[in-house]
Amino acid sequence: MRNTNLDLLLYDTLTRRKRSVGTVSFGGGSDIINYYSCGPTVYHYAHLGNMRAYLFNDILVRVLRVIDYKVNYVMNITDVGHLTDDGDDGEDKLEVGANRENRTVLEVSEMYTEAFKEDIDILNIASPDIMCKATDNIAEQLSMIKTLEKKGYTYVISSGVYFDTSKIEDYTALSGVKLEEQMDGKRVSVLDKKTASDFCLWRFNEGITSNRSMSWSSPWGNGVPGWHIECSAMGHKYCKEGISIHTGGEDHIAVHHTNERAQNIGCYGGDWGVKMWVHNAHMMMGEKKMSKSSGDIIRPSDLDELGIHPLSFRLLTLQSHYRKQMKFSIELLKVADKLYKKLRHKISTELEFYPSKLKLDLDHEDIYKERFLEPILSDLNTAKGLSFLIELSKNLDRYSKKTASIIVSRIEEIFQLDLFKIIDDNDLNLSSIPIDVLKLIDSRKVAKENGDYKEADVIRNRLSLLGYKITDTSSGQKVQKITI
Ligand code: AMP
Ligand code: ZN
Repeated sequence: MRNTNLDLLLYDTLTRRKRSVGTVSFGGGSDIINYYSCGPTVYHYAHLGNMRAYLFNDILVRVLRVIDYKVNYVMNITDVGHLTDDGDDGEDKLEVGANRENRTVLEVSEMYTEAFKEDIDILNIASPDIMCKATDNIAEQLSMIKTLEKKGYTYVISSGVYFDTSKIEDYTALSGVKLEEQMDGKRVSVLDKKTASDFCLWRFNEGITSNRSMSWSSPWGNGVPGWHIECSAMGHKYCKEGISIHTGGEDHIAVHHTNERAQNIGCYGGDWGVKMWVHNAHMMMGEKKMSKSSGDIIRPSDLDELGIHPLSFRLLTLQSHYRKQMKFSIELLKVADKLYKKLRHKISTELEFYPSKLKLDLDHEDIYKERFLEPILSDLNTAKGLSFLIELSKNLDRYSKKTASIIVSRIEEIFQLDLFKIIDDNDLNLSSIPIDVLKLIDSRKVAKENGDYKEADVIRNRLSLLGYKITDTSSGQKVQKITI
């Protein structure tokens, strides 16, 4: 049972209105949220545009946990089936990646999955509870296609098994666009499909001209699954009662999620499905969205070299609403970086972290709720929450140190900007310091605050053995790497 009656309102793409998350939860105490997010296609590095999507998921999941939901956070890893064109056109992206790099598909998917995990870690994005690969769940996908066939939703043509979209009455309900308009101008490469919007569930090897290294047997012939079936099959497998919230970027609304929804309706009728669809808008560089295929991408790990702290990107995304297109440029990022470093310096040197949920007096509890939590709980207005944090950091004299510290500690449960860790622009970028060393630096700060100078000296010596010199300045501890 949850210990709060606070709830989160989110904009549901399907019903086109804001709905309370409490209406889509499961469990005896209605406290379980089955959360499914479309994850990366691992044929290339994930870029900052993708990271906007994962940061949005991270903030959303953290908010749900702060208001005491138990979140079962599932993310798929697409390592087969996603073609270079989101319609049924082009080549499998994983095969393209393997050819480009002269490696096997498995090598490519493993390498980019690891890179993805490192990149989300740099941005303090927590790992999902379950990360499931499409290629580990082929049997589940085949079983779903068999059910769809039995129920009359499929047909077979020379290139594969297809889903008959004319069987779904409100097929385009997610995009809200008429089918003719949705398909207008779209190139249809599979000419023997019954309807242009029909999509592939199982793609045969037979007749293909390009190299294809992945193949599984099926009742209809050897081949690979279509892209959309993986999310329906894994969603059902890992979210048994149903999916409370399904997220993804806005590019998924018209094709990927529309088709996922059609598969769910065909296979399970109304008995199982997605209760709420939530989509983030794109991050744009000028008129274009940042995309892997354009080649013009920046990864979180590239930011260090630009002299930008990676968490400044986290702050930049907090400044815009997830449903609005986010403007991105290096100039904007540099402005965010300045703000971030100033904010972190102020908080880390003047306040201290309180890990447990300490109580505030009533007035300050109200301030925290009204100025921070309420905007966040109203469809994730992170920008408003962030302005409160900045305003608070500029007016620390209006609060006691403990009150301000508790408020910022609570904000950090969601924002995760590492605001309590000392930063010094002239010295090391904190993201390049190993976590063990950071912990020692933090514990030395605590030792000094407690007047335990002996312990502080012991820690200083240990840091020096690890290759880090620490000096005390008026603005806190200064860290430098010892070069020999
Ligand atoms: P992909 O790896 O291309 O399948 O994309 C992974 C996730 O990132 C999906 O939810 C996409 O919708 C999302 N995405 C891709 N490009 C952008 C972008 N420029 N801005 C925001 N989200 C994006
Ligand atoms: Zn998906």
